[in-house]
Amino acid sequence: MDQPLLAEVAVDRPGRDAYTYLVPDSLAGELGPGDCVEVDFAGRRERGFVLTVERRPPPEGVKLKEIQQRRAVRLPPHLMRLIAWGARYYRCSLGEFLAGAVPAPVRQGVRLDPAFAVVPVAGFAGRLTARQQAVLAALPAAGQPLAELLRSTGATRGVVDKLAAAGAVTIAAAGDIQEVRLEARHESHPLTDEQTVAVAAVGEALDAGRHQAFLLYGVTGSGKTLVYCELIERVLAAGRQTLLLLPEIGLTPQLAARLRSRFPRTAVWHSAFSDGERAELWRRCAAGAIDLVVGTRSALFAPLPAPGLVIVDEEHEQSFKQESVPRYHARDLAVVYAGQLGVPVVLGSATPSLESIHNGRQGRYRVLTLRKRPLGGSLPQPLLVDMREECRVQKRPVQVCSELIERLKGVRDHGEQAIVLLNRRGWSPVVSCSACGTGIGCNACDITLTYHKAGQVLKCHYCGHQRPLPRTCPACGAESLTTFGLGTEQLTHLIGEAVPGLRILRVDADTVGEKQGHAKLFKAFSEGAAQCLVGTQMVAKGLDFPRVTLVGIVAADRGLAVPDFRAAERTWQLVAQVAGRAGRGERPGTVVVQAWDVEALPIRAALDRTPKAFVDAELALRQEYGYPPHAGLVRWLWSGESAARVQLVAEEHGARLKACCQGEVLLGPNQAGLGFLKGLHRWHALLKAGSRGAAQQYLDRLAAAGGLPRANEVNVGVDVDPYVTV
Ligand code: ADP
Ligand code: ZN
Repeated sequence: MDQPLLAEVAVDRPGRDAYTYLVPDSLAGELGPGDCVEVDFAGRRERGFVLTVERRPPPEGVKLKEIQQRRAVRLPPHLMRLIAWGARYYRCSLGEFLAGAVPAPVRQGVRLDPAFAVVPVAGFAGRLTARQQAVLAALPAAGQPLAELLRSTGATRGVVDKLAAAGAVTIAAAGDIQEVRLEARHESHPLTDEQTVAVAAVGEALDAGRHQAFLLYGVTGSGKTLVYCELIERVLAAGRQTLLLLPEIGLTPQLAARLRSRFPRTAVWHSAFSDGERAELWRRCAAGAIDLVVGTRSALFAPLPAPGLVIVDEEHEQSFKQESVPRYHARDLAVVYAGQLGVPVVLGSATPSLESIHNGRQGRYRVLTLRKRPLGGSLPQPLLVDMREECRVQKRPVQVCSELIERLKGVRDHGEQAIVLLNRRGWSPVVSCSACGTGIGCNACDITLTYHKAGQVLKCHYCGHQRPLPRTCPACGAESLTTFGLGTEQLTHLIGEAVPGLRILRVDADTVGEKQGHAKLFKAFSEGAAQCLVGTQMVAKGLDFPRVTLVGIVAADRGLAVPDFRAAERTWQLVAQVAGRAGRGERPGTVVVQAWDVEALPIRAALDRTPKAFVDAELALRQEYGYPPHAGLVRWLWSGESAARVQLVAEEHGARLKACCQGEVLLGPNQAGLGFLKGLHRWHALLKAGSRGAAQQYLDRLAAAGGLPRANEVNVGVDVDPYVTV
């Protein structure tokens, strides 16, 4: 008797990687690994991905179901391999990882959205067929919605795709279209010596077709983007594609437009796209119609047929780590991917992560340094202001020092621009009663509510809960509620009062609103809509603004108080990144930094641009206390509505976790730093192993011992290489 044709299918459920299904005769010849299929799973229609198809004896005693349908989506084998690696490393099921990597509209088979637009590429001089030429001639210079073009010319979609393939037009998501129009200029500069060395080094690995990891360590304004462009050009010439990953905030329409003007077949990939746009992008990547994908974290999983280079810009950014399942780190996974593909990977930053610096020192990454700014722009002069001294001299509590105020006046009078950073939004982070001392907290979280003057509300920055500011103290009834501490809303007000006539634009989560909204504010600023940008860490990234001559950093040491082993590293990165925004044009820049602890090494290092002392000290501390890069961490988090249940399960699981330790250290389980969040009680535990490899071996032992049993009413999450540990 013939053996049945069976497929192993991964579905989006925790636990098992795959389930066995029968392949119906109708799909027999065509079904293969990577195919998206519809199956019946526990009584529901689910979409899953085929791992294997083979004839073999059916498993005994099970009644197998048939695959119901095949979707027109097939993941290339190199992507399946990456995802398999990721699922194993980050300890989720293959189906969960696949569901996180392949956008839902793609899995659901959403069809083309008419919101796509076609824009001619200025200066295109290639050869076209008569039909293609006619369609191109009918296309207005400003571009046109795809559906309209097809209607007005009677052309088929295929003709437009061919035009795009030839580089005569770009097909862009409607949301991007304005920027595409805006930017037709295509800058090309001769490379500086440092850029030449960097391009040659990576170019050599490209030519040799070998994997190698590079850390492009270049000060802000040193021209990293031009290095990327030269490399992308080479990859393109070899007929392969490039992936360029950026943090959400770094992916501005301006950058996308700049890349698109040089590489017309560029796809921008970010979280603000509609379902139809996403599905269409996927289709075009898979069809080989795209040479460059520039996008955030999840762009790593764009189904490019033959990626030849992976670039991660601003590699130190924490937003590369996904905080829900699958909890992958896109930079780390990018390095793995490049290794699997046998191609080079370039990690770029002005302030690399300590992990990457360490890898550079160990020789695992080749470090390429860009020290100079090609535009000459002198590096800014830092002024460090001791706020204890300032308060003593002025004999009152001071929020903004006189040095910064005076210089802001200068900016106003000379028609220049300034950026002021304060990494906390709202008016005041604390509201409490001066009669009884009670602070007002969130009902759903262990956190004080932040006062927002606009709207007179109290907001929880963790769960979003908000309520009106009460007139009297909820605890004692006295009319003596007072606010403490400074947020960007109040800072904007204070600067406005002290520097009349200065036009200020505030950039933080409250003013930015929708996704990619920061890009609009940055654009307004670069067009001169305001002279001073006041904001949270958002102002540390984004564009280069040539007219910015002054950068102010308020409470630069604030982040150092955060109970996190990366607090010092983040402070160094933030201060150095914002400081680097000054003096990018011809005019020299100044940086005024306010701190309570002016001796803090991370701040000194950022301002003196001598990170070595800081990095050495910090790496030594990490070694001493057993933190990355000198350790591998795993964190478990238990959460649930019943505090007693959470504690019970955490302690039971904790005993199992301890039993698997062979020299690793397990901290906890104990109540998490944020013991109550969004209405859930939380316990956690942290495993410290000697290395990432050792942490993986530990997790293998735990899995072999049966893992952690499911518990009612309590969620258990595991986070490998965690970034959030409170
Ligand atoms: P980074 O990303 O390293 O902060 P950018 O790539 O934004 O820096 O470059 C900073 C500025 O320097 C940009 O305006 C860019 O056009 C310019 N630039 C880069 N390389 C060169 C070069 N070789 N010659 C002239 N200008 C350059
Ligand atoms: Zn809350």
